[in-house]
Amino acid sequence: VKRVYAFGKDAQGNNVTEGNTTMKATLGGKGANLAEMANIGLPVPPGFTISCQTCMEYANAGNVWPEGVLDTIHEYRLDLENRIGKKIGDAEDPLLVSVRSGAPMSMPGMMDTVLNLGLNDESINGLIKQTENPRFAWDSYRRFIQMFSNVVMGLDGDLFENAINAMKAVRGVKSDTDLTAEDLQELVAEFKGIFTENVSGEEYPALVVDGSVQFPQDPMVQLKLAIEAVFGSWNNPRAVLYRKKNKISDDLGTAVNVQCMVFGNKGNTSATGVAFTRNPANGAKEFYGDYLVNAQGEDVVAGIRNTSPIADLKHVEGLEEAGRELEEIFVLLENHFHDMMDIEFTIEQGKLFMLQTRVGKRTAAAALHIAIDMEKEGLIDKKEAVRRVAPDQLDQLLHPQFDKNADYDVLARGLNASPGAAVGEAVFSSADAVAAAEAGRKCVLVRWETNPDDLAGMIAAEGILTSHGGKTSHAAVIARGMGAPCVCGVEALKIDAEKKQATVAGTDVVIKEGDMISLDGTSGIVVLGAVDLVMPELTGDLDTILEWADEFRKLGVRANADNPEDAKLSRDFGASGIGLCRTEHMFLGERKQIIQTFILNDDDAVREKAVGELFEAQTGDFYGMFKEMDGLPVIVRLLDPPLHEFLESPRALDVEIARLEATGGDKTLIAEKRMLMERIDGFAEQNPMLGLRGCRLGIVYPILPEMQVRAIATATAKLKKEGLDPKPEIMIPLVSTVAELEKLRAVAEKIIAEVAAEEGVELDIEVGTMIELPRAAVTADEIATQADFFSFGTNDLTQTTFGFSRDDVEAEFVPQYLQEHLLPYNPFATIDPGVAKLVEMGVKLGHEGNPDLVCGVCGEHGGDPDSIHTFNKIGLDYVSCSPYRVPVARLAAAQAAL
Ligand code: PEP
Ligand code: MG
Repeated sequence: VKRVYAFGKDAQGNNVTEGNTTMKATLGGKGANLAEMANIGLPVPPGFTISCQTCMEYANAGNVWPEGVLDTIHEYRLDLENRIGKKIGDAEDPLLVSVRSGAPMSMPGMMDTVLNLGLNDESINGLIKQTENPRFAWDSYRRFIQMFSNVVMGLDGDLFENAINAMKAVRGVKSDTDLTAEDLQELVAEFKGIFTENVSGEEYPALVVDGSVQFPQDPMVQLKLAIEAVFGSWNNPRAVLYRKKNKISDDLGTAVNVQCMVFGNKGNTSATGVAFTRNPANGAKEFYGDYLVNAQGEDVVAGIRNTSPIADLKHVEGLEEAGRELEEIFVLLENHFHDMMDIEFTIEQGKLFMLQTRVGKRTAAAALHIAIDMEKEGLIDKKEAVRRVAPDQLDQLLHPQFDKNADYDVLARGLNASPGAAVGEAVFSSADAVAAAEAGRKCVLVRWETNPDDLAGMIAAEGILTSHGGKTSHAAVIARGMGAPCVCGVEALKIDAEKKQATVAGTDVVIKEGDMISLDGTSGIVVLGAVDLVMPELTGDLDTILEWADEFRKLGVRANADNPEDAKLSRDFGASGIGLCRTEHMFLGERKQIIQTFILNDDDAVREKAVGELFEAQTGDFYGMFKEMDGLPVIVRLLDPPLHEFLESPRALDVEIARLEATGGDKTLIAEKRMLMERIDGFAEQNPMLGLRGCRLGIVYPILPEMQVRAIATATAKLKKEGLDPKPEIMIPLVSTVAELEKLRAVAEKIIAEVAAEEGVELDIEVGTMIELPRAAVTADEIATQADFFSFGTNDLTQTTFGFSRDDVEAEFVPQYLQEHLLPYNPFATIDPGVAKLVEMGVKLGHEGNPDLVCGVCGEHGGDPDSIHTFNKIGLDYVSCSPYRVPVARLAAAQAAL
């Protein structure tokens, strides 16, 4: 197997690149695109890439190198030296390399990098000679020892920072840049001492020289250890957490890129930066990003110094040409990749080098805007534009914002790094954010700048606030990817993480841990206290993409809604009807009393009176729903849950009786309560979800479906008389045999006919059923003879197919099943293939029984993009989901059809 791939030019200037952009699984994203950039003639420092598969083999073998790879790496290193005409470790003109991770999926900042590799006590002299800049050379050497010790050997970075601070104190200077070449040379000696003291000779016998551990001088030893560290970083805890959060497989591995170093810190004609070919926050067509003169790459991302906007670069003396070339490259990259790209570059003494490019991460708003612009520019077609927006990303656009009418004072302003608004208690560490979230409290994570160790806290927090760093800083990039609101670079904020508080320059405000703060990542505003949040208006861009999506999709999209407000919201979001109105949701509040009266009384007169009240209430409910959805279908499901769900808990009653008895309470009251408890106990079931519920309720208590159908028919008749076009459909839940449906259908038809006659209007109301039991699915041909439509209730169908209690198992053992790969994913979130087979069978048999049968799905899976792909394949007519998922479902349905 080929494990190592060259990229860049040879000594004669010929391209000797062995890979290309399609090889991400082998070369990782970074390696594949370095190869691609070299192939299209962009200035890429030469190097080679070790494959992702090598990383996995090394890890799976317990950190043992596969046979022969080290020899191959050695050959490629020699080849690289020939190509560049320099040798690693050379005392005259040394080659230095970077060793960088690069997985198939972008995992920004999660894995390790080592720079300046190849420096040792010999080659430092060569570097001094070549650059005639001893200060630069010694600074590079001390950075290398520091990074190597921290990243490769796992030593605490503070050991080195403390030594630097001690040196600055002795010299009486403030900044690192005030240290002289001699100071840095002394630091190099100190750093080597720290290395000797803190690295274990037992763990690294190869590093022991004359009885003590020495900083490795052999560049091949440095290289081998650095590559091993990058391999190992694939499984560091933050990388594992990031993959879990982003659903990236643990089996991909990372490639390792070994590349000639170029230096952005060689003076004022050198620079380094990161950029996007368009604005990744709002999608505007403009060059976007930052650069720093005389700096190394990590200085930009770490937010240590304040950066300048990329558009200024071509006006800076000595950088004009590189700045212009960079802008030409932006255009070239977009024309080549047909997408918005992000870029890392370095300018070494006026000469531009491209260090990385990849498809740029962007907010949902930017994704929509860029897709639409690129379609207009002819870079992509409409289908591709629809494919470009991830359905789950749309959630971001449906995020809350500050209420425009809210009254608040701006405490501070920063960069609007990731859109959406958040309100929560201030917390000052990742651990505190996690603790707050676990305790059910909303929080905002406040940090000087985040680093990859903060990931857990960033996930736990509602929003992220930093006092440092730009729009390409860690906090900004990660927050945008997660869709979390973020304001960064709030310079007025002075954070004392240890005291867990922050002050705000120019005010006497002190933000303490637990104080409520609000932030708006769309505008960059920070507010003390809780601001009211509202949902955003949907932008025209979303409408455009969804309209394009509607051209391609085959599945209809309806909503699950049980009140007129949600019905309106669904309609605004583009639902073409209501797929499920759960009528039990209409029996809450004071109505609960009425249904309790019905259940608990044997007296027919009392019962009839209760049912009469319910009829009045339900007629009003349906009138509101049908009016809101005028002209569109509304599927009303008859009462479904076990009756005891409407009753008080017998346990609570028991406690109350005991309390009354202990305090000498009223005897008759106690007797009444006891009778009530016994009666409620009579409704208790061992398995209520498998007991008296669904259609069985209507068979045992026919007065209930009669009342509900009468209310539906009456509301319909009323609206028709008002000249509207109500389209209700009646749905019978939890049917397992055709006989059940036949009986209830007859009840419904009788009542509809009665109301039609009484009201003098024609009523044409369809009757269908839910398919949510395996027996119903496998006898769907019989059931369909009595049904105008099927709606697959995949929540119950999953529960009854697996025999998994839907109310319990997600907390009980599903997490363990997922961990042990006994389940690939939670079947209550994404449809399981076994359950999907029942759906497919139900559709096929159903059409045998009734060729005109309409089939939809109304379980939670109806709003899940992966499940929508399955339903599209099965050939359902529509999916039905909660209102906020409607846009997501429209887009996912289109992508499934493309
Ligand atoms: C279902 O079972 O999938 C369904 C939609 O009904 P409910 O969730 O109300 O049981
Ligand atoms: Mg159900």
